[in-house]
Amino acid sequence: MENRFIDPFLPVDENGYYGTFGGAYIPEILHSNVEKLNEAFAKYADDPDFIAEYDQLLSDYVGRPTPLYYAKRLSKHYGTSIYLKREDLCHTGAHKINNAIGSVLLAKRMGKNRIIAETGAGQHGVAVATVCALMGLECIVYMGATDVARQQPNVERMKMLGAKVVPVESGNKTLKDATNEAIRDWCCNPADTFYVIGSTVGPHPYPQMVARFQSVISREIRKQLKSLTGRELPDYVVACIGGGSNAAGAFYHFLKEPSVKLIAAEAAGLGVDSGETAATIHLGKEGIIHGSRTLVMQTEDGQIVEPYSISAGLDYPGVGPLHAYLATSGRADVAAVSDREALSAAYLLTRLEGIIPALESSHALAVLDQKKFNPEDIVVINVSGRGDKDMHTYLANGNLIDD
Ligand SMILES: *Cc1c(COP(=O)(O)O)cnc(C)c1O
Repeated sequence: MENRFIDPFLPVDENGYYGTFGGAYIPEILHSNVEKLNEAFAKYADDPDFIAEYDQLLSDYVGRPTPLYYAKRLSKHYGTSIYLKREDLCHTGAHKINNAIGSVLLAKRMGKNRIIAETGAGQHGVAVATVCALMGLECIVYMGATDVARQQPNVERMKMLGAKVVPVESGNKTLKDATNEAIRDWCCNPADTFYVIGSTVGPHPYPQMVARFQSVISREIRKQLKSLTGRELPDYVVACIGGGSNAAGAFYHFLKEPSVKLIAAEAAGLGVDSGETAATIHLGKEGIIHGSRTLVMQTEDGQIVEPYSISAGLDYPGVGPLHAYLATSGRADVAAVSDREALSAAYLLTRLEGIIPALESSHALAVLDQKKFNPEDIVVINVSGRGDKDMHTYLANGNLIDD
């Protein structure tokens, strides 16, 4: 195939394979759509005008660069040097807006005026609804009915922004089901509709494209760490992983630096072996979900197992193909963090640093309790979002914190 965009940092081939993971497993009706997306992405990924518009919105609208903050009291508590990448300070409160801006700009270049998206915690839905308001485009967001109930503030924000929120009643009514509905919509409206996927999942080129739009995170980390410490490379980069977009962004510019250890924190829910979990990399087997070959939580006969996590953004039975590859090839370590461990890490960060993290990000912070770091280590943790949307859950579960 001609005109493919070959990424200089990702371990991906021109057909979107990361080792044996990835690819594009899509119904016939979407072939030409995905092919046109491939062409558009190849055309604009390195286009100076496109990049200039994207970069300007990131700085003037999103508020980038986000700080890399040396967390003094947290560092003292754990006996190591901890730097927090503050994606929680992005406009709309999470890293998702980085991708939403890039993707919607691409949609506009392709002449598509109807934008659809799926959302779990609501952060991606809010980010896409925000960018659609900014650019005057129609926006429809599919969201599992369970998530609509547990993430009310974000539902209200999307509505105020002018988006139509469609509750999805199938399956366990969470992210997987919302994604199914969004794909169904895309199949029915292939001509005028652009599907903005919120993570490094879905058929090629989505995982690669979303990783690219999030890669600004690690580009900034390198520069900021250099000016703060004199070193461009940390010893560790830690990020939580649902589909994998904030981790992909935080890892991207370190993937080819073997001295930088990468740790992904996935949601263990009530425990990896409890049956109530979203620890996909620990439990998953190769299979196909949402257009991509990856690790999937499934039964012996290939039925998808319903995931569970206290955190709506991590409650997904698959994982992006990049991360399936990084984990199985040994490039990244994967921690499984339970609901209780995540809650405890959230309270600790809040009390020591005055930062209330998103429940998702709390899973990354909990790695500090699982793993002993050395005093001379530099550990960068990606704080993917802020905790406002989770206040209800934090307050309802404060009794689980044993301090
Ligand atoms: C959506 C979300 C996540 C999980 O998605 P990834 O694609 O794995 O990053 C993590 N943190 C926050 C704050 C989110 O909104």
